[in-house]
Amino acid sequence: MHAIQIPTDHEHVQVKPGRRTGLPVMIGIHSTTLGPAIGGLRIKHYDTPSEGLADCLRLSHAMTYKAAAIDNGTGGGKSVVPLPAGASVTRALKEAILLDVAEQIHDLQGAYMAGPDVGTGPEDMDFIFRRTPWAGGRSKAAGGAGGTTEGTFAGLESAIEAAAEVALGASSVSGLRIAIVGLGGIGTLLARALKAKGASLLLADIDPAREALARELGATWCAPHDAMLAECDVLAPCALGGVVTPEVAGQLRCRVICGAANNILSHDAVAAQLRARGIDYVPDFIANAGGLKYASAVEVHRQAPAEAMRGTCRGIAENVRTVLRGCWDGAGTSVELALALGQRRLDAALARPARPGPAQMQAARG
Ligand code: NAD
Repeated sequence: MHAIQIPTDHEHVQVKPGRRTGLPVMIGIHSTTLGPAIGGLRIKHYDTPSEGLADCLRLSHAMTYKAAAIDNGTGGGKSVVPLPAGASVTRALKEAILLDVAEQIHDLQGAYMAGPDVGTGPEDMDFIFRRTPWAGGRSKAAGGAGGTTEGTFAGLESAIEAAAEVALGASSVSGLRIAIVGLGGIGTLLARALKAKGASLLLADIDPAREALARELGATWCAPHDAMLAECDVLAPCALGGVVTPEVAGQLRCRVICGAANNILSHDAVAAQLRARGIDYVPDFIANAGGLKYASAVEVHRQAPAEAMRGTCRGIAENVRTVLRGCWDGAGTSVELALALGQRRLDAALARPARPGPAQMQAARG
């Protein structure tokens, strides 16, 4: 049995029962070196509460590197409320959980800011925001970025274009064969945008209803497994993580992997296997950071939406070029180089004099 690796270098971890529900509210603040720790609030069933805590700690650690790599002036955090087996989430239970979470977040005085994640959406962030200012990814109606899907999609499209430029010498995606696995919120926006730019699409989803999109766009529809192994220029996994195992990596026939799914590789070491096979892998936390970058630009740094979107796309494309070029120069795998990019920004921030804390930033904003 593999031991689960859990990061143990958090600035602050708390697990306290909610006053209303008694359910444990888990908050992991991995790092505030670059700014308030931002990360989604996950409300879902786990087999045991400890699995929820492990998820919270792994994801908050990953958020630090995701935020540092995009240099958006935020740190890494996460919160989890594990639901007991069989519990159905009525609106009353959901609101009681959100009130419990809002109360605990507020007590942290801005060190942690929640966002939408599995089991929560922009409207839940609006609900929390009515009790504490430390909730982002709010609805547009409430003055927020409207969740993270739009930003994540736009950043991913820019990442694919930059990867095509570096890895394939392509000045546009026109004529490229692109396989998208997973046609949910992000995969659907991506398919439409790439089709409009002249790409030839191969689309797949476990939900047969999504075939209608393939028909509408004149794309080839196939089973997810076949799309993963299809001969194509770019493979964009936009459903689940862990899909590129050592075995799958040995069978892939794409030239670039760049998708929205978290943790696309089953292990970081698969990146070296892909490099050896001449496949360029854009690390997930570089490719899918657009939602975080856009929402924090609009809601934390108060940029106008158009400016925030331009900065999101430009920043992600630059990161993709840096990482893939470094990889081509033999400086390391794309995963190692992406982590190093984030680490350099963390080290540089630690070497500078102390910055104002989140509570001071909030006070200064009024
Ligand atoms: P979504 O839930 O809207 O869509 C996921 C789609 O994948 C669904 O259509 C589902 O039917 C399909 N799917 C599930 N299992 C599949 C399988 N085995 N094979 C093929 N298709 C399968 O999710 P989304 O918001 O589009 O996000 C896509 C991925 O990107 C998720 O893994 C998500 O965690 C990740 N991500 C999303 C964001 C964001 O802002 N939405 C940010 C970072 C990462």
